[in-house]
Amino acid sequence: MPKPITRISKSQYLKGLQCPKALWFYRHRRDLYPEIPEAKQRLFDSGHEVGQLAQTYFQNGIEITEKYYQIDKAITATMRAVNNGYDAIYEATACSDDGAYSRIDILKKADAFGTWDLIEVKQSTGIKEYYLDDMAMQRYAFQGAGYQIGASYLMHVNSQYIRRGELDPRGFFALQDCTELLEDRLPHVAGYVADLLKILNSGLEPDIKIGDHCKKPFECDYIHHCWKHVPDYSVYDIFKGSQRQEMLARNILDVTQIPVTVSVPGHKAIDVDAYRSQTVYVDKTKINGFLDTISYPIYYLDYETLFPAIPLYENASPYQQIPFQFSLHIQESKGSDLKHIEFLHTESGDPRPGFIRALIDSCGRKGTVLVYNMGFESRINRELGQAFPRYQLELENINARMVDLLVPFRSRHLYHPEMMGSASLKSVLPAFVPDLSYDDLAIADGDSASAMYLNCVKDSISNADKKKIFKNLKDYCALDTLAEVRLLEVLYQYAG
Ligand code: SF4
Repeated sequence: MPKPITRISKSQYLKGLQCPKALWFYRHRRDLYPEIPEAKQRLFDSGHEVGQLAQTYFQNGIEITEKYYQIDKAITATMRAVNNGYDAIYEATACSDDGAYSRIDILKKADAFGTWDLIEVKQSTGIKEYYLDDMAMQRYAFQGAGYQIGASYLMHVNSQYIRRGELDPRGFFALQDCTELLEDRLPHVAGYVADLLKILNSGLEPDIKIGDHCKKPFECDYIHHCWKHVPDYSVYDIFKGSQRQEMLARNILDVTQIPVTVSVPGHKAIDVDAYRSQTVYVDKTKINGFLDTISYPIYYLDYETLFPAIPLYENASPYQQIPFQFSLHIQESKGSDLKHIEFLHTESGDPRPGFIRALIDSCGRKGTVLVYNMGFESRINRELGQAFPRYQLELENINARMVDLLVPFRSRHLYHPEMMGSASLKSVLPAFVPDLSYDDLAIADGDSASAMYLNCVKDSISNADKKKIFKNLKDYCALDTLAEVRLLEVLYQYAG
């Protein structure tokens, strides 16, 4: 007989609220637990940094350093810290009699009469619905362990903060009192804890079907297992609600099986038709309309950015996109040779002043500036103009000349069945230009580019490794603008 499970942590509770089967897998099927993807690990690391910074907000604090599995030791260490008179206890741990245990980022003394406030630190810039379940469970665990709890605060990143000199935790964070918001959730925690413990101890895998809950509020760790029978492009990508249910009831999963009599919403009708017939959809009039908006010389442009939660540079805000690199291919006339210019900030310090100067020097004064997903580059130029007003006019001039190459693909002027509903560059390029690929590159997406560059900025790697990263960044960014060149050629071909 396996030992009964008598406790459930806050993160397990949240997992169980999203899907009891995911919790069951987590506790009973460790073989199914996937490796943590790099992007998720980076999010954890960033959250840890923000958590460490939050601790500097308070005076006379102590951290409970027991490992996550040393629950009883952490509970004892927390009580010892309380008895020793600390005003703030980081990673304080408590467990209610019925098995709800929680670590709170900060347990903060509220008065001299034994009342404590709970402070949950998040790296987001505001409140999210599921935080309230998280905080209700914490409150329940601490109250159930005998603590007298005053307020429950959410301590999140203040998006309005602008760094001036040394980082100021009191400006960087915003405290939001959520005590009242928890009132309607708190009475249900005991029931949920009991239900989840019962499921965990039943020995039976819960019978739960896949659905929208697999991706909300988090992408579940077990999608690779539960969704393995679902094709890469399926009715889940096409329909919602009752239409999806109708397809599932008829055992239709693959897009090719959707009957022609079924009405498909919006531009997905084009996607489904193209996929069923495996033919490219072309609207020549609209393609020509788009091409008419372009004038030579063309400046094919792409940026790479950093967007750390904790601003690294003067005059920057949390999560602000800080450009450190661009690639630019220049073409004087249709079909003429390409000139390539690139900028990568390889020194220490703020990359923006050098970036702006190089950009303005390279982009000329007339002709189209062609980007893929214009909202990104134009927003960065606007923010650069605000932070460095002397360059504002020239940056506005670049924005005024911008044309978005995403439009003809997103608006379905041209659609390839291999795009499978997505107009991202990473979907469109292999569909139309299969000989140009990101597959062999050491850096193959913007998030990795950002993370690699951050490693260089933080000086956590050797000079030789930095050199390698800089080369990989140049290869990656250059491919993005070469992709734009080739996709414009594709549009000209289909327009003709
Ligand atoms: S993939 Fe969906 S059904 Fe499977 S465990 Fe996760 S949330 Fe539950």
